[in-house]
Parts: sequence; C-alpha cells; structure tokens
Amino acid sequence: MKRTIRRTAMLHFERASFSRDYVKWVGEEGFTDIGLGLKPDDDKMTGQGYVWEKVCRLAEWAGEFELGVIVFTGYMKYRETFLRTHPERSLVCVGGSGTALDSDNIVRTRWLCPFQPENKAEYVDLIHKVIRLPALREIHLNDEAEIGFSNGDVGCYCEHCVA
Ligand SMILES: [Zn+2]
Repeated sequence: MKRTIRRTAMLHFERASFSRDYVKWVGEEGFTDIGLGLKPDDDKMTGQGYVWEKVCRLAEWAGEFELGVIVFTGYMKYRETFLRTHPERSLVCVGGSGTALDSDNIVRTRWLCPFQPENKAEYVDLIHKVIRLPALREIHLNDEAEIGFSNGDVGCYCEHCVA
C-alpha cells in the first residue's frame, strides 16, 4: 500500500508568515499543507490567526505553490470583541458568570452560545465561505471549544437555552 505522508506548516503569526515568499518557502521546505487560524473580522489584534481577507490571500498563494490549506475555525471561542456589544448571544454557565474556562482550565473567557439559531446561522454562513477556498483540504470546526471543560460548566443557561 502506497501512502502519502502530508506535512502541515502552521502559519500562526501574521507578522512572520503573511507573504507570498513565505508560502513559497514553506513548499520548498517539503511541506504539503499550510494551517491557518481564521479569526473574526472584528479582531484587530495582530498575533495568531488571520482575518477572512488574509486567509483568502494565503489560500491563493498555497494553490499557486501546490500546497493544501487547513483552516481552523472558531465558533464558540474567539468572539470576545463581538460579545462585548452582544452579551445576549453569550454562553451562560451554571455559575452565572457568562464565561467558560478555557482548555487550559486557567483563563475564563466569554464564549458564544452554540445553540442560539442566529449564532448557528452565522457559523454555517462562514463555513459556506470557507469551503470555496482554493486548495482547501480540511476544516477544523469550533476550534478548542466544548461544553464541559470545567466542573459545573456542562450546559448553557442563556435566555434562549432556558426557554
Ligand atoms: Zn445558550
């Protein structure tokens, strides 16, 4: 049986990785794919991940150099900026804090309720955009989020979920 071993270069940091030359170099180094975190367009912080426009550009460059694209999408997480002005769309934990422990069990962050129809519809729209990216190989859904990371945080008690 012949197998192809794939190697993914995770392009975490925009400042270091966002250029055609960098993507070209990744291919020359023997990688078969690039991994990208898609962050919300309202996230102005530079650091990890890329807004949609930059994910599109990276996917074009990946296709040009015959690399596949793996996209990590956040759903419940990475929406802190949005939830500051739309707190009613948040996950509400048993303690009533409205926040969830992150996967490291140290930091509490505000997450999106995964059950509200408006939240689900926006995520489905996002996934429909992602599937049209050139060279797409994988989509990671709801990156690093789940209900139940910590004791007592086993459900959502927002107004929609309680009703
Ligand atoms: Zn809810």
